[in-house]
Amino acid sequence: MNNSSYETVIGLEVHAQLLTETKIFCSCKPEYGADPNTRICPVCMGLPGALPVLNRESVTMAIMMGLALRCDIAAVSEFSRKNYFYPDCPKNYQISMYDKPLCKNGFVEIETDNGPRNIRIERIHLEDDAGKMSHETGKDSLVDFNRCGVPLIEIVSRPDIRTGLEAVKYLVRVQQILRYLGICDGNLEEGSMRCDVNISLRPAGSTELGTKTEIKNLNSFKAIEKGVEFEVERQRRVLEEGGSIEQVTNLWDADSGRLVMMRSKEEANDYRYFPEPDLLPLEVDGEWIDGVRDMIPELPLEKERRFREEYMLSNYDSGVLCAEKGIADYFEIVAESTGLAKKSANWVMREIMRALKNLGCAIETFPVEPEKLAGLIALVEDGIISGSAGQDVFAEMIKSGADPKEVVKKLGLEQISDSSELENMVDSIIAAHPEEGERYREGKKKLLGFFVGQVMRESRGKANPELARNILIKKLGS
Ligand SMILES: [Zn+2]
Repeated sequence: MNNSSYETVIGLEVHAQLLTETKIFCSCKPEYGADPNTRICPVCMGLPGALPVLNRESVTMAIMMGLALRCDIAAVSEFSRKNYFYPDCPKNYQISMYDKPLCKNGFVEIETDNGPRNIRIERIHLEDDAGKMSHETGKDSLVDFNRCGVPLIEIVSRPDIRTGLEAVKYLVRVQQILRYLGICDGNLEEGSMRCDVNISLRPAGSTELGTKTEIKNLNSFKAIEKGVEFEVERQRRVLEEGGSIEQVTNLWDADSGRLVMMRSKEEANDYRYFPEPDLLPLEVDGEWIDGVRDMIPELPLEKERRFREEYMLSNYDSGVLCAEKGIADYFEIVAESTGLAKKSANWVMREIMRALKNLGCAIETFPVEPEKLAGLIALVEDGIISGSAGQDVFAEMIKSGADPKEVVKKLGLEQISDSSELENMVDSIIAAHPEEGERYREGKKKLLGFFVGQVMRESRGKANPELARNILIKKLGS
């Protein structure tokens, strides 16, 4: 996408559903997948005379995200009505924040090929969600109002992103932070995190912004990357042919891998914003902000840095381990208890992650507790069992959740590390293969492998290979 004549300019708007107990302006409890229109009341249905009451928890969560993204938190912010008519919006307006948002001027750090870069955040504001339409072809359109009034934060970036890949890196980071904070489950497919992309092209070197188009309905990272590439190419072709870009909103159609034009884009004044008359300005004092600051855990980027320094892990390893807080916590318990960071990291990144994928379960409900995995790693490292026996023990632990030592005993996998037992075995093997012994002594040292193989066969894989090797060298050489 690096073209000498044009530069791509991308800004992202992320809507994240907050995991509050109740909706933002009423006491309905949202629940994904509930029967349609069973989580509603006069307030979220916008019935005449119903008055909104702001949910304090939603403000706390929005401040959390604001602080995590290094924003300034406004002492006074204001809700506004954004007026529009659509069947999924029974009030005929959305309660959002317009010119006085709660959080402003932050940034998200992403890794690029040219090193780390900050994507600036313009604002984070609170608003209520609309309902959900479903259109059955040839039939009626249906609307479910359960989602009306679910609290959202909208995170608006500055147009600092240059490629589809950078957009994905930014979104992955935002998703990780939302999950670390525990304020949104970040599920793109279920729509609890939604992303709109604004794209424009401008002549390279220019600082003026070109006309932008918007893509909505991007419900996977892959769709985002492909949608951006598709639209950048389209705009480039139009501009190169001397045409001009129209300000439109496009929907991404994942099935066909194409963009479908939805409507020409509204201007802010089409929404006739005005301050919400039923809500007071939102005042947030320093005490509230300090309280929220104390609730913020170590965030993914800081954790990655600490893992690199404390455990001497690579960028790649620390990135993989810190992608999910639960995995990072699990790894730390294993590493602390074995004292072997890299070995522990390998086990978590390979065996544990593979098992989680196969079982389709989260680390929080994984049957092998981190202390038990540490026990298993110690058994392998101390030579009590072989590496391959370790894999068998692990498979058994997943099934039963049992202690590794018990599994080793039960499966009879303990390595023979007793010298006298191995010496007897080596003596009889050497006696049974006099010819090979002779050739070994004449200089064919490769035959050592043959003898080790015999010992492993004789012991049915239980001999400690290192020990067997040393005994063989000693006995064959004499
Ligand atoms: Zn309600």
